[in-house]
Amino acid sequence: MNANIAVLTFVNYQANIECNMKKVFNIRLLAEFLTVIGLINILILYFGTNNANSSTLKKELEDIPIIRPANLFNLEESADTIFNMVQKVGAKAITEVKKTKLKKNESLSVALKRINFQKSEISKIINSISKLQNGRKILSSLPIGMIIDYSNPSMLTGGALKININKTKDIFVWQDINNTYKSQIYLRPTKFEKTLIQCVIENNLYIAALNSGIPVNTILEMISLLGFSVDFQREIKQGDSFEILFTKKIDILSNEIIQTKPITYVSINLSGNKLNFFKFPDEFGLPQYYDENGKSAKRTIMKTPINGARLSSRYGNRKHPILGYTKMHRGLDFAAPTGTPVFAAGDGIVEKAGWNGSYGKYIRIRHTGTYKTAYAHLSKFNKNIRVGKRVSQGKTIGYVGSTGRSTGPHLHYEVIKNNVQVNPMRIKIPSGKNISKSNILSYQNHIKNILKQKNAFQRSTNNKKFAINDYESLKNGS
Ligand SMILES: [Zn+2]
Repeated sequence: MNANIAVLTFVNYQANIECNMKKVFNIRLLAEFLTVIGLINILILYFGTNNANSSTLKKELEDIPIIRPANLFNLEESADTIFNMVQKVGAKAITEVKKTKLKKNESLSVALKRINFQKSEISKIINSISKLQNGRKILSSLPIGMIIDYSNPSMLTGGALKININKTKDIFVWQDINNTYKSQIYLRPTKFEKTLIQCVIENNLYIAALNSGIPVNTILEMISLLGFSVDFQREIKQGDSFEILFTKKIDILSNEIIQTKPITYVSINLSGNKLNFFKFPDEFGLPQYYDENGKSAKRTIMKTPINGARLSSRYGNRKHPILGYTKMHRGLDFAAPTGTPVFAAGDGIVEKAGWNGSYGKYIRIRHTGTYKTAYAHLSKFNKNIRVGKRVSQGKTIGYVGSTGRSTGPHLHYEVIKNNVQVNPMRIKIPSGKNISKSNILSYQNHIKNILKQKNAFQRSTNNKKFAINDYESLKNGS
């Protein structure tokens, strides 16, 4: 399974900033601050105020110093071992370090008793932690399974504890040279890492993604993003592939992923059809996804897949014009001259294109696992339309006609949900806005940058492979 997984992980240039938590906090605040300024700018632009004023405002606001909350500002970085922490704080020397986990229904005092701390020491340790900011609260809500690194005190050496209270913080407790127990909260150092994963699918996208080391929440994000255009049940074939570029936040001490950012780029290759989606912020700064042409990844189904036509018959009961009795009309009729182009109502795969009884010349498109659309009484098909062919929304698939049981040229259009016709006017499928004309240039530059990053990842692996060859050629002056 998944023989061809290539996992390329590199520390992004941003990672250096992230190692220092003080700076990170500063940058986050700055980012939030700039977002607010951005919104102010949008408002100013929206209400038509002189643009020059807004940039002056921005300049001025940027110069205001940012005040950081004292508690985070004062926190220092945690270290991987107690020995390093002892050095950091100048604690009394320790000897052997052991490790345990906090058990169910166990308080820290009970755990300390279990790992052979003396009663008097335990009360001094607990007392010291209680005096920390929120110390009592921390002690009363320690997580089960919390890792406790510890060193028992002896005649000549000090006692020490390093407890990992949550994803971001450690508490270190130590004895100073006067044997007084002291404690402090430390931030665990983190870094952001950009990762490119390329993966060939054996038979299941989810399993292939999981096996290639993509975090579960990123996989779910990818599936919901691709779900608008890919039918995972029927469309995934052995040998199809995907690649994904995303950023994860890693705890440097434990090397565990503690957070992931929204996917930067994802591309899936389905039997040679490549679908690409890029993250780009909308006017509110929220991440949205678009294809290379700026079309939203959130696809809907058009209610009117034809231009310049008149709705001549609605969905519901009606007296049938040919049969003469009341019959449920399970679609919409659009009267239009023969030869009027008919569009694909959404992205999908052509499931049927041919004669279909009273429907005459008929096309059915499968959009996702749930939705299909059908087009009947056509005069002819677009010459590129074949069963199994992928079509995109708005593409001409055929032309209005009057084939089959029909009184005159019109398009009979059906939306089929879970194999049952539904009223096309009532369907509610989320649709995203496409990139606006005014944003298309910056979007195109944005995707160029993303692809450049992706290519840089690929080049780095190639560079590693061919480093020796390069060295040889340099030596030979070639
Ligand atoms: Zn009809």
